Amino acid sequence: MNNNKKRLAILGATGSIGTQALEVVAAHPHLFEVEVLSAHGNANLLIEQAIAYKPNAVVITDETKYAQVKEALASYPVKVFAGSAALMQIVAWESIDLVLGAILGFAGLESILAAIDAGKTIALANKETLVVAGELVMQRAAEKGVRIIPVDSEHSAIYQCLAGEYQGTIDKVILTASGGPFLGRKPNYLVNVKASHALQHPNWTMGAKISIDSATLMNKGLEVIEAKWLFGLKNEQMEVIVHPQSIIHSLVQFTDGSLKAQLGLPDMKLPIQYALTYPNRLANNFKKFDFKDYSKFTFEQPDYKTFRNLAIAKEALYKAGNAPCVLNAANEVVVAAFLQNKVGFLEMSEMIEKTMERVTFIEHPTLDDYRQTDADARKYTTEFLKKSQLSIY
Ligand code: NDP
Ligand code: MG
Repeated sequence: MNNNKKRLAILGATGSIGTQALEVVAAHPHLFEVEVLSAHGNANLLIEQAIAYKPNAVVITDETKYAQVKEALASYPVKVFAGSAALMQIVAWESIDLVLGAILGFAGLESILAAIDAGKTIALANKETLVVAGELVMQRAAEKGVRIIPVDSEHSAIYQCLAGEYQGTIDKVILTASGGPFLGRKPNYLVNVKASHALQHPNWTMGAKISIDSATLMNKGLEVIEAKWLFGLKNEQMEVIVHPQSIIHSLVQFTDGSLKAQLGLPDMKLPIQYALTYPNRLANNFKKFDFKDYSKFTFEQPDYKTFRNLAIAKEALYKAGNAPCVLNAANEVVVAAFLQNKVGFLEMSEMIEKTMERVTFIEHPTLDDYRQTDADARKYTTEFLKKSQLSIY
């Protein structure tokens, strides 16, 4: 074993970010060693990855898949574990240098907290972790002296713009949004769109949930909340601008009026690689931006009236407390329903708003409060969904 290699735990290895992270690892075998891989339900891919990347251990959090993974890897030197509790213990292993958090949704929160408590450097893709419990997560990271390096492209852009700058010099950050596949569309069109349309993102290839969030602009709402906690910003210090070409990944305006931006082709492997190799920059063979391919960059204000999720997310940001946790849980439920064509595109915002009115507000939530809030919000949104389905028939 080469001790200079960075030893990685990739949580959510079977997802869009996880698989791209493994591509980055494969391109730089002299730099990285895969120590742990986790998956939830995709046992087949986890088995393939274990054989290809030879981790010390794999964790399948869906325990019903344990026997399948255990059996398939019986003749390989890979330890096999099952369940979320095992994952929380394993992220604390001495042999891990960096944990990539690429699990989807609220389900990713507790393993990240466990990794922070164990003092691991975190490369964070799972934005929902910061949306739900950003204050708690950043506070624990500060206590443990843990660095959280963002993977989300906008936040990676801001992180890169801030390199070498003094604290307290940010005037505001400007998050760019592609506008998604329905940019410029109005409610009379959106009322009929189905999951198959919404999954066709013009610039990025991503997992299903974040693709829907991009189409509703909830993704940008979640990212504003994510930015607040990552960079310690006031609510008024964050702005969203639609930039359909997705080349400028975000900007920082400094107190002297200077603007810095980070640009590049829309390819998540770039921010993933930056987070895994920070503070270094590594040469790679990814396709590079060329001005010959782009005659202009355009910008426009987001349409908050049509894409109400962005306005609702802003409300949650200002309300604070457990409101973003409610927002996130309700959104996870409606997006899962929309993916099965069980709720309309515009109806998703209604269900989220209703849930936000229904769940009891807690100004200073504890981790237990977040767990309870998440469970309550899911229950109410599911009830609202059932009622609305009954009223159709
Ligand atoms: P995917 O849906 O493609 O992958 C999700 C991963 O999480 C899979 O490995 C999945 O396992 C695992 N997972 C799902 N549910 C659970 C659970 N209950 N417990 C443990 N693991 C679970 O998502 P993405 O890769 O698109 O996104 C991952 C995170 O990164 C999200 O928070 C997203 O917002 C963020 N992100 C993604 C970007 C992208 O381009 N995709 C860009 C910026 C941020 P399995 O498949 O085995 O069931
Ligand atoms: Mg993003």
